[in-house]
Amino acid sequence: MVKAVVGANWGDEGKGKITDMLAQNADVVIRFQGGANAGHTIKNKYGKFALHTLPSGVFNENTVNIIGNGVALNIPILMSEIDNIVAKGVPKPILLISERAQIIMPYHIKFDEYEEERLAGRSFGSTKSGIAPFYSDKFAKIGFQVSDLWDSEENLREKIESVSVQKNVLLEHLYHKPPIDADETYRTLMQYKEMIGPYVCDVSSYVQDAIKAGKTVLLEGQLGTLKDCDHGIYPMVTSSNTIAAYGAVGCGIPPYEIKQIISVCKAYSSSVGAGEFVSEIEDEAAAEELRKRGGDGGEYGATTGRPRRMGWFDCVASKYGCRLQGTTDVAFTVLDVLGYLDEIPVCTGYEIEGKVTTQFPVTRLLKTAKPVYETLPGWKCDISGIREYEQLPENCRKYIEFIEKHIGYPITMISNGPGRDDIIYRTSPLKA
Ligand code: GDP
Repeated sequence: MVKAVVGANWGDEGKGKITDMLAQNADVVIRFQGGANAGHTIKNKYGKFALHTLPSGVFNENTVNIIGNGVALNIPILMSEIDNIVAKGVPKPILLISERAQIIMPYHIKFDEYEEERLAGRSFGSTKSGIAPFYSDKFAKIGFQVSDLWDSEENLREKIESVSVQKNVLLEHLYHKPPIDADETYRTLMQYKEMIGPYVCDVSSYVQDAIKAGKTVLLEGQLGTLKDCDHGIYPMVTSSNTIAAYGAVGCGIPPYEIKQIISVCKAYSSSVGAGEFVSEIEDEAAAEELRKRGGDGGEYGATTGRPRRMGWFDCVASKYGCRLQGTTDVAFTVLDVLGYLDEIPVCTGYEIEGKVTTQFPVTRLLKTAKPVYETLPGWKCDISGIREYEQLPENCRKYIEFIEKHIGYPITMISNGPGRDDIIYRTSPLKA
């Protein structure tokens, strides 16, 4: 049985917590796209962790954690994450890395920095982790697969030379920076080979065998639908596909094996970096209050520490986000945070060119969209610790049910705290 845990919003919805929770009963957890540019924050019996590349199953001794071929693999970061969790008392995780995953090269990170510098005020707000240059090279067919590390020295050096010729033109003439040192790049790759040697395998075969053997496999998405490079707010998106469908591509399994798609929706909105964000809270004091109270210790980037932009729940974007994911279940997270509000605005429509719509538009129209809000009463109490849906205050249930009706997908899990056990299971009328 393959399940996917994916984001229906802009990322930072709490996927790490939901994956960590479900991973307790999973045999295999797979990261299938993205790189170390976004982080999953997880709080469990070992402490609090920000994982960037490691799958969120690493806290379970028997779970096999996999880096799929769709990931942008930053090898030093992966290694330091393993060291970091082991230093905090987590048993050394079982890890497998796809021989077809591609490697973030040191020059990808440099190109990301140089391009943001060149664009200055017009930049994409990149985390400068090398993700866009990495995926550009992958699709231009000049990337390095993990398996290339086992090629002959002659072949590998020839490939580095050939890639450098092209890149050095840009480095010299566009960015006015030093050229790539081919020898150093070769040496770095040999270090990478040593670091990941023990983990590399044919992931696609491994996972297909696991499925045949009846194992439970979790696909863990990074970021959310609205940052998907095809279906998101292009061009202010990430450079990979964040939707569950890509989970099949990103580890090499048939798409029909994905039976459950859990879309994680946060009870309010947040977004990092530039880009359209219709339900953004305009009142800076109100935004700052929610930012400070948000998540577990505030809404600040897990990778960069930068403050996230804050918004009210957006039914238009979330309905679209859930639809593109192919949602079977919604996990509605961080609801506990909203207990301080007297009333809570919810964005139920966009006004575009004088008409109100509930369909999420293309970026060109999104730029002109104005939010249409309905305001719901708050519940003014702390709901953390509650485990039964019926025990939630009436206004809190009304908030959930209002949102469920507007997005049209069943909310079957409600997360009311950062810990593994802070979860309420619910039977949704949409799942009859
Ligand atoms: P991810 O990338 O989707 O995993 O999300 P992040 O890790 O960036 O953000 C989620 C943050 O919210 C983390 O700090 C989590 O510990 C925290 N979190 C997750 N679920 C809940 C919840 O239900 N309530 C609270 N208060 N915090 C939560």
